[in-house]
Amino acid sequence: MVDPAECTIKVMCRFRPLNKSEVERGDKYIPKFTGEDQVSISGKPFMFDRVFGSNTTQEQMYKASAQKIVKDVLDGYNGTIFAFGQTSSGKTHTMEGSLHDPDGMGIIPRIVQDIFNYIYSMDENLEFHIKVSYFEIYLDRIKDLLDVTKNNLSVHEDKNRVPYVKGCTERFVCSPDEVMDTIDEGKSNRHVAVTNMNEHSSRSHSIFQINVKQENTATEQKLSGKLYLVDLAGSEKVGKTGAEGAVLEEAKNINKSLSALGNVISALAEGSTYVPYRDSKMTRILQDSLGGNCRTTMVICASPSAYNEAETKSTLMFGQRAKTIKNTVSLNVELTAEQWKKKYEREKAKNTTLRSTVTWLENELNRWRNGESVPVEEQFDKEKANAEVQALDNVVNNEKMTPSPSIPGVKLTDAEKEKCEAELSKLYKQLDDKDDEINQQSQLAEKLKQQMLDQEELLASSRRDHDNLQVELNRLQSENEASKEEVKEVLQALEELAVNYDQKSQEVENKTKEFEALSEELNQKSSILVSIDSELQKLKEMTNHQKKRVTEMMSSLLKDLVEIGIAVGSNDIKQHEGSGLIDEEFTVARLYISKMKSEVKTMVKRSKQLESTQAESNQKMDENEKELAACQLRISQHEAKIKSLTEYLQNVEQKKRQLEENVDSLNEELVKISTQEKVQAMEKENEVQTATEVKEAVEHQIQSHREAHQKQISSLRDELDSKEKLITELQDLNQEIVLEQKRLRVEHEKLKSTDQEKSRKLHELTVMQDRREQARQDLKGLEETVAKELQTLHNLRKLFVQDLATRVKKSAEMDSDDTGGSAAQKQKISFLENNLEQLTKVHKQLVRDNADLRCELPKLEKRLRATAERVKALESALKEAKENAARDRKRYQLEVDRIKEAVRAKNMARRGHSAQIAKPIRPGQPPVASPTHPNVNRSGLFNNQPTAIRGGGATQ
Ligand code: ADP
Ligand code: MG
Repeated sequence: MVDPAECTIKVMCRFRPLNKSEVERGDKYIPKFTGEDQVSISGKPFMFDRVFGSNTTQEQMYKASAQKIVKDVLDGYNGTIFAFGQTSSGKTHTMEGSLHDPDGMGIIPRIVQDIFNYIYSMDENLEFHIKVSYFEIYLDRIKDLLDVTKNNLSVHEDKNRVPYVKGCTERFVCSPDEVMDTIDEGKSNRHVAVTNMNEHSSRSHSIFQINVKQENTATEQKLSGKLYLVDLAGSEKVGKTGAEGAVLEEAKNINKSLSALGNVISALAEGSTYVPYRDSKMTRILQDSLGGNCRTTMVICASPSAYNEAETKSTLMFGQRAKTIKNTVSLNVELTAEQWKKKYEREKAKNTTLRSTVTWLENELNRWRNGESVPVEEQFDKEKANAEVQALDNVVNNEKMTPSPSIPGVKLTDAEKEKCEAELSKLYKQLDDKDDEINQQSQLAEKLKQQMLDQEELLASSRRDHDNLQVELNRLQSENEASKEEVKEVLQALEELAVNYDQKSQEVENKTKEFEALSEELNQKSSILVSIDSELQKLKEMTNHQKKRVTEMMSSLLKDLVEIGIAVGSNDIKQHEGSGLIDEEFTVARLYISKMKSEVKTMVKRSKQLESTQAESNQKMDENEKELAACQLRISQHEAKIKSLTEYLQNVEQKKRQLEENVDSLNEELVKISTQEKVQAMEKENEVQTATEVKEAVEHQIQSHREAHQKQISSLRDELDSKEKLITELQDLNQEIVLEQKRLRVEHEKLKSTDQEKSRKLHELTVMQDRREQARQDLKGLEETVAKELQTLHNLRKLFVQDLATRVKKSAEMDSDDTGGSAAQKQKISFLENNLEQLTKVHKQLVRDNADLRCELPKLEKRLRATAERVKALESALKEAKENAARDRKRYQLEVDRIKEAVRAKNMARRGHSAQIAKPIRPGQPPVASPTHPNVNRSGLFNNQPTAIRGGGATQ
C-alpha cells in the first residue's frame, strides 16, 4: 500500500469557450482565472484542485485530471470520474469528445487507450481480464445500452456489500478497438431509442464501467479495480429549460437523482452519520465513489457566458462542497493460500495474547473481590497490552479487504457489533430483495393495467353490442305490434268493404238498368239522327239542283235579253206605241231579276251555314271520342294500380303470418323453458324417479296440448286465409264494378250531352227545314212569277217581233221614218252592258288573283318553314363547329404543353450531364459506378469491410 488510505475527492473545473450563439448575442465572458487552482466569477473566488480555461486542449485536460487514475485502477483501486454541469456546458465534450479523432477525443477513449498501453508495458506474469458495461439512468430506471431489452435493471450488493447493477451486460474486451466498438454500439442503441437526442442526453445519466482483474500467474496474487466514467444529466434548474407538465414531472425526477447526489455530497461534506445513498439508483451505484473505497475525480463543467452566471455559480458551489469529501481507499486484493495461512497464524497469536490478558485480569479481579489490594506493579498494564494487540492488528488491517463499517457515536461490544452487522446485512439483503420484488410487482401491475384496459375495451364493445341487439329487438317487437295493428285494421276495412260491396252491387244493378234504358234511347235518337241526316242530304241535293236550274234559267234569260238587246240595237225601227210598253216590262223584269238574285244569295248563304254547323257537329263528335279513349286509358291505369296494391297486401299478409309463427314458436319455447324449470325444481325437491315421471307426463301433456293448439291454429289460419282471399276477390270485384259504374256514368253523361247536342241540332235542322220549305215555296212562287214573266216576255217578244215585222213592212212601204227614243235606249243598254262586262271582268280578275294568292300562300308558308329550319340547322352546325374549334384548341394547347415539357426535360437532362456532381443514392439501392467517378462505388465497398478484428469478444 503506497498511497495514504484517506484521500479527498479531486475536483477539476473546466470552462468551455463562448459558443456561436453566445458570441452572436454579445454575451460577456465572465470567469477570471487567478492562478492554476482559482477562478472568480463577478468577484467571488472559487478554489479547486485545478481550473482549466477555455483554451485547454483535450489532451491537457486528460493528462491533468484522468491519467493518474489508469495506474490506480491497474494497481487494484477503484476509480470514478464524474462530469457535472448544466446542459451544453461541455460534459460530453470532456468525457467523450469526438470519439475517433485523435485530437478531439475526450477522457474515455484516452483512458481506454492508456489502459491497454499500460498493460502492454507490464510484467508478463500478469494476466488481465477486462470487461466493460455501458448503461444509462433515465427517470430512475437503469437501461442497458448494450442490450436494449434490459430496460429496468436493479441495484444489488455483493458479498462485500458493494453495490452493483444486477444482470447488466458485461462484455469482455481484449483491445482498445473492441472497447470503442462497444461504446459505438451503446451510443447507437441510445440514439435509436429516442427522437431528440440532445433533449434526452440532457435528462439522462450515462455510465461507462470498466472492470480490470489481474492475476499474477507466478504468485497467484489477484487484484481488481473498477472504473466508473459518468456523464451526468444537465444540472440546470427546472425553470430555465422552460419545462412544463409532463416534462416538468420528468425534470423533477431527473432532479431527484441529481438532488440525491447533492444530498449525498452534502451529508458527506458535513460528516453526517447517515448518508442517503439509497435515495436514488445513481447514488447507490456510485456509493463507493462518494465517501467509499474509491479515488474520485469530479470535472465541473461551466459556461463562461454572463447569461449563465447564476447556473455557473451554483455549479461551482456544488464542486466546492464535493471537494471536502474524504474517501477511504484500500486495495482490492484476493489473498493467496499462503497469505491466508500467515493471517491465520497472526490471528492465533493475537488470540493467545488476548487470552493471557483475560486470565491476568480475572486473577486481578478475584484478588480485588477478596478484599486484597493489588499493588500497582502487579496490576494489568493496559498500555502494554494495547500496544501488543495493536501491533498484531496493524498486520491484519493492512491486509483487510474492506473496512468494516462502524456506527460512530455508539460503543458496542464485539459480539453486539457482529450481531448488528449480521442484522444490517440481512436487512440490506431484504431491502434488495424488496427492490427486486417492487420491480417485478410494478411490471406486473403495468401488465395487469394493460390487461384491464383490454378487458374494459372488450366489455365496452360487448355492452355496445348488447345495446345494439336490445334496440334491434325493440324495433322488431314494435314492428310486430304495428303489423298486428295493421292486420286488425285491414280486417275491419274488409268488413266495411263487404258491406259497401253489397250496397254498390245494388247500385250497379240500378245503374245498369238505367244504362240500358239510356242506350235504347240513344239508339232511337241515333236512328232519328240518321234519318234526319239522309233527309238533309236529300234537301241539299235538291237545293243544289234548284240552284243549278235557277242559274241555268238566269243565264238563258240573260241570253235572251242580250239577244233582244242586239235585236233592238241593230234595228233602226221605230215604234212609238210598243216602246213604252217594253220599257215598263224591262224595268219590271230587272226588278224581278234583282229580287231573284238576292234570294238566291240568301239561299246560298243558308246552305253554307248549314254546312258549317254540320262540320262543327262532326268536330265535336271527334272530341268526344277522344275523351272516351282517354277515360279508358285512365281506367286501365287504375286497374293496374289496384293489382299492384293487392299484391302488396298479400305480401303484408305473408309477413304477418311469419311474424305470428315466430311469436308462436317463442311462446312455445317459453312454455318449454318454464316447464323445464318446474321439472328441475321438482327434481331438486323430490326424488329423481318421480321427477322424471312427472316430467314425462308433463311433456306428454304439453306435446298433446301443443299438437292440438297447432292444429287449431293452422285450421284457423287456413280459414283466415280463405276469408282474406274471398275478401280480396270481393274487393277486386267491387273495385271493378265501381270503375265500371263510373265509366258508365261518364258515358251516360257523354251520351246525354251528345243527345242534347243532337236534339239541339235537330231543332236547328227543323228550323232550317222550315226555312227551306219557306224558301222552296218562295222559290216556287218566284219560279211561277218568273215563268209568268217569261211568258209575258215571250208574248212581248212575239208582239215585239210582230210589231217589228209590221214596222219593217211599213217602213219598207213608207221608207221615210224616225228612230228617236230607240237610239237613247240602245246607248243606255250598251253602256250598262259595258259596265256589267267590265265589272264581271274585274270581279273575275279579282277572284283569280285571290285564288292565285291562296295557292301561293301555302307555298310561301312552306318556304318560310323551310327557311326557318335551314336557319336552325345552320345555327346548330355553327355551335358544333364552335365546340369542335374549342376542343381542337384545347388539344392543341395540351400538345404544345407536352412538347414544351419534353423539350425542357431534354434540356435539363443535357445540362445535368455536363454539371452533375453527385448522384443521389437512395436507401436500398447499391451505388452505381459512374464512369467519371468510379471511386464512389469502390470506396463504398471498402467501407463495408470490417476494419476491426473482433477477437475473443465473448459476451457473458
Ligand atoms: P453537455 O454534454 O454538457 O450538454 P456538450 O459536451 O454537448 O455539453 O457541449 C456542447 C457544445 O459545446 C458542443 O458542441 C461541444 O463541442 C462544445 N464544447 C463544449 N466544451 C468545449 C470546449 N472545451 N471546447 C470547445 N467546444 C466545446
Ligand atoms: Mg451531454
